[in-house]
Amino acid sequence: MKTKILVSACLMGFKVRYNGQDKPLLAGVLERWQQEQRLITHCPELAAGLATPRLPAELVGGGGTAALRGDAKIQESDGSDVSQTYLLAAWLALKTAQDAGCRLALMTDGSPTCGSTKIYDGTFQGITQPGVGVAAALLRQNGIEVYAESELPALIARVEALDKALT
Ligand code: SF4
Repeated sequence: MKTKILVSACLMGFKVRYNGQDKPLLAGVLERWQQEQRLITHCPELAAGLATPRLPAELVGGGGTAALRGDAKIQESDGSDVSQTYLLAAWLALKTAQDAGCRLALMTDGSPTCGSTKIYDGTFQGITQPGVGVAAALLRQNGIEVYAESELPALIARVEALDKALT
């Protein structure tokens, strides 16, 4: 059996959008994992019915864990409270991961949904702070390990370790 990985859909477009140093590593690894049929590609926000394009949204008053408790909100840049839609997105990501047997997730960092090491600070000024998005928080609460794209080497090592344990 192979270890399955939930992957943010927008990361699969990484090859054409990203200009950083990790590009060759990420593109190559995602291509190999795709060929090995490990990847479950998913966009929680689209699954929850949000349109493309959509207004930017940020967590306000706390991070993803607080939002799951109802102690923080997700707002769009026009001030609309879209918390319920983003909470639905989180639950749909969890259901998708669980249905496919994913123990790992590779998610786009900085997003109020998929972020796993940083999120925007709720001021819509382009400022990030340490934190976790709602889907990443819910996945972790349910035992699914979430990695950011900057943590790819650690994820590769984890996949290899889990593969060995499965054989
Ligand atoms: S970061 Fe946003 S656009 Fe990308 S997969 Fe997650 S919810 Fe979808």
